[in-house]
Amino acid sequence: MLTVAKFGGSSLSNATQFQKVKNIVLSDPTRQIVVCSALGKRDKSDTKITDLLYILHAHLKFSVPYGDIWEMLYNRFVGVKNDLGIDYDIEEDLNSLKAELNKTISEEYLVSRGEYLTSKLMASFLGYTWVDAKDLLRYNYDGKLDEELTEKNVKIAFSKDRKIVVPGFYGAYPNGSVKLLSRGGSDVTGAILAKCLNVTVYENWTDVSGVLSADPRIVKNPKAIKEITYAELRELSYMGASVLHEETVYPVQQLNIPINLRNTNEPDNPGTVIREVCTDTTNTVTGIAGKKDFCAFNIFKDHMSNEVGFMAKALSLFQKYEVSIEHVPSGIDSFSVVVPYSQVEKCQYELVTELKRDLDAEVTLERDLALVAVVGRNMAKRAGICGEIFQALGKNKINVRLLAQGPQELNIIIGVQAVDYENTIDSLYHALIK
Ligand code: ASP
Repeated sequence: MLTVAKFGGSSLSNATQFQKVKNIVLSDPTRQIVVCSALGKRDKSDTKITDLLYILHAHLKFSVPYGDIWEMLYNRFVGVKNDLGIDYDIEEDLNSLKAELNKTISEEYLVSRGEYLTSKLMASFLGYTWVDAKDLLRYNYDGKLDEELTEKNVKIAFSKDRKIVVPGFYGAYPNGSVKLLSRGGSDVTGAILAKCLNVTVYENWTDVSGVLSADPRIVKNPKAIKEITYAELRELSYMGASVLHEETVYPVQQLNIPINLRNTNEPDNPGTVIREVCTDTTNTVTGIAGKKDFCAFNIFKDHMSNEVGFMAKALSLFQKYEVSIEHVPSGIDSFSVVVPYSQVEKCQYELVTELKRDLDAEVTLERDLALVAVVGRNMAKRAGICGEIFQALGKNKINVRLLAQGPQELNIIIGVQAVDYENTIDSLYHALIK
């Protein structure tokens, strides 16, 4: 048994959180690889260390005085060290970083120091060996991970020390300079390490007890999901549920390593397990997610169904404007092309004009649509779900604008007017999940 345990910024925001992490790590001897984000927010009004570093970089770049920001950064790190009596000379590292600050300092390098310093504090606090991510995760100049070299590096580092702490969020280019991942990238670091060592489980510790079955800003206390497949998670994430960095799943999915999402503030809660195949059949619907700000190009033409290639002609115009299409619900002599409004904001008038001209059709643009996805691996080949959906929406006087279902029956997409969005999610949650 071997576990990678990654802790997010909220799990590392102050001394109390550091202590919780230590209790968690030391309570299970298989937690031998620990990945740290940078110190996160202590409360809602606080600023993450990563954000402070981005601000510091902007000040340096534009030669704006940065003394106050530096002091905030310095005090946060030294505060955690002093509160816990950690035996690592972080002041020395901070002073040498200060000496490096100048107008041309690399943003990737500077911002990565959040994870660098936080993980060094944690390694010292745990009594684990600190290993720099730039010596493990190696990237080519095109930004692609050198999987072979990375795996070799990780295996060597782990075989030497067997209890290691690694900073998340960065690696290195072939010349050794820091390559920063995109925001939230420590999740990806954890997944890469999990894959390289083919661990039993990849634990991802945050401040929620797993993936929630609906957006808690809309539904009061939604249930957490116990088990979810990678595919279901992808459907929910695609439709707006923010769970993990989107590149997290791929490395672990290749070796079928489960991801366990856990809550640092509730360590006894088993959280959510994400894996390739889930056997639990208790719930038909796993979760509900959605997004606003879609629009539909509605295209009408008499006897359209007799014209071969009509739809292809329409879709090629969307391709010409590089618009990615979400859904194409259709009738006999009409169909709609549903797209995120942000993608057509600049070319909407040209698209309508060209669609009308090239297709000799009537075209209207409908704004303010929302899409809601009902997701569940257990929906396949089970009768009655659509009935329940329509009943719930009908009871709440919500008009369905469009409907779509993927061939695997993993999701049902319901399009409604944006004003009905919250009500749709809440009604469906109460009808299908609660
Ligand atoms: N600290 C970085 C961020 O705030 C990376 C991470 O937390 O995963 O995005």
